[in-house]
Amino acid sequence: MVKENLKEVEKRIQEACERAGRDRKEVTLIAVSKTKPVEMMQEVIEEGVVTFGENKVQEILIKQEILTGNLSWHMIGHLQRNKVRQLVGRVDRIHSVDSLRLAKQIQADFEKQNKTADILIEVNIAKEESKYGLMPEETENVIREIAKFPNIKVHGLMTIAPFVNNPEENRVHFKNLYKLLVDIKSKNIDNVNMDELSMGMTGDYEVAIEEGATFVRVGTGIFGSRIYQ
Ligand SMILES: *Cc1c(COP(=O)(O)O)cnc(C)c1O
Repeated sequence: MVKENLKEVEKRIQEACERAGRDRKEVTLIAVSKTKPVEMMQEVIEEGVVTFGENKVQEILIKQEILTGNLSWHMIGHLQRNKVRQLVGRVDRIHSVDSLRLAKQIQADFEKQNKTADILIEVNIAKEESKYGLMPEETENVIREIAKFPNIKVHGLMTIAPFVNNPEENRVHFKNLYKLLVDIKSKNIDNVNMDELSMGMTGDYEVAIEEGATFVRVGTGIFGSRIYQ
């Protein structure tokens, strides 16, 4: 089941890249494995997937004990400041940096262990009441502040688009995030790369790819629906 799902997702990614005239290599599929057992993750590893997205620090630590080998772990969920210390040296990207306060904590905890945090800035691009993320207008200024932290490297932007029935409804938000990325990139802020765009989930990753995503985060589409206790 999981392997067939993965093939289907891979095919759709490929087709979206072709429609957009993009190279498949520009897009990294993040298999979002939160709540899912390592046995299921093993199935996609056998198919060549190495990049996993998780939203809880504890779950990352537990799964890393079991799944060794050359995997890339991405923290995609809301991060509490008191959990940052446990993430040092554990993940290749933190996608969900949504405040200067959190960035300060990341700087402090990573500095203590002489490590650099590779991060994306989460933007609430549709300005939804219920969502984490910076407002688009404040994003550049916050990035300018974070750029001063020597143990943080900003690589780009991330968003969680609204839940919609028709993915076309999110196209405008993906376009806007892409524009924001390009705009901030053009400012050439020291210590800031604006080359990565994390957007698109199971319901809308094809549209996100057409609009410039470099990371798509697909959970349900690969592992099936999640059951929360
Ligand atoms: C759970 C989650 C996903 C994956 O969602 P699906 O709809 O299951 O693909 C992607 N991004 C974030 C931030 C998530 O928390």
